[in-house]
Amino acid sequence: MAAIAAEAIGLLADSERLQLLRRCANPACSMLFLAENKRRRWCTSNICGNRARVARHYERTHTDRDGGV
Ligand SMILES: [Zn+2]
Repeated sequence: MAAIAAEAIGLLADSERLQLLRRCANPACSMLFLAENKRRRWCTSNICGNRARVARHYERTHTDRDGGV
């Protein structure tokens, strides 16, 4: 118990780490993650990052087809 509490306090005091704490760019997710890479925008690039890319692609193809028929 004491060890866990000490760890939690250590995390809160670690301002350098807190500055890396970011919110996921995916509005449907809003998870917090540590951005070790400054360009990182998603908590998991292979899930949220990929989903955002797919959504954008889907939107584009959908609007392209709209006036076709
Ligand atoms: Zn996410």
